[in-house]
Amino acid sequence: MINLPILRQNDREILKDIIQSKHKPAKTSLLNKYENILGDYLEYYKNRHSLERITADIDIDEEVSKYLNDAYKSGKVIDSVKAKITEIMPPAIKEKCPYCMLSEPGTFDHYLGKGQFPEYSVLSKNLVPCCSKCNSKKGEKFLSANGNRIFISFYFDELPKSSFLIVELDIDGDVPYIKDIYINSDLGNNIDEIIKTHFDELELFERYKNPMSNKLSLLVTRIKGSKQCRDDIIEVIRNEIIALEKIYGPSYWECSLYRGVVNNDDVLAYLENISIS
Ligand SMILES: [Zn+2]
Repeated sequence: MINLPILRQNDREILKDIIQSKHKPAKTSLLNKYENILGDYLEYYKNRHSLERITADIDIDEEVSKYLNDAYKSGKVIDSVKAKITEIMPPAIKEKCPYCMLSEPGTFDHYLGKGQFPEYSVLSKNLVPCCSKCNSKKGEKFLSANGNRIFISFYFDELPKSSFLIVELDIDGDVPYIKDIYINSDLGNNIDEIIKTHFDELELFERYKNPMSNKLSLLVTRIKGSKQCRDDIIEVIRNEIIALEKIYGPSYWECSLYRGVVNNDDVLAYLENISIS
């Protein structure tokens, strides 16, 4: 998982262009709320590192809310904003959704949901490229019962520098398998709770099981009969972790899986055994 670059475009100008492109009565209603929405944008930016502080703008009525939602759905200006956000994403995110790092990000998530916070419907910093599965699981969810944010903001939350995703393996009969996947709760960082709820709500532990098992089977197939000693196997896997980390970040599920392999003596003994036999 990695932090995402922010689109360096003036959101005031984007909003103005969107309103100018509309016809009456939408144009008039939106113009009346233009200053309000700019104030909301300022609020968003001021609280970007503690987005849980943001409350919905009660001056945005149902009518304006509908016009803003429509403005997000289609239009030349917003289409160009969406295209530019996609364009500036690093290669990893062009390929994989930042929320799960599994599927292609074919949609945009409104980090602050557009139902509860229509004022941020077309704010570029609130639009996160995302896969449809994560988008629908996330929906309008924002805060937990205790007021903490539920999901990671990949634009503004600073992700831990070391891996927070831990994978434990074991051997059953003669075959290595994934015993447990969990979040390291000893990060010394207040993002711990957000990461945990992010994984729970998006069901990532469950969704990682099959792709991790498949990668583990592939690794076993690759090593079988390759005549490598334990140190060689460890080196090959460590190099793979380093290469993957550079693109997808240290907590990418595949890196965590391979770390689980090199940290487990029984699995290494198994791999050495099938390698030389
Ligand atoms: Zn996803």
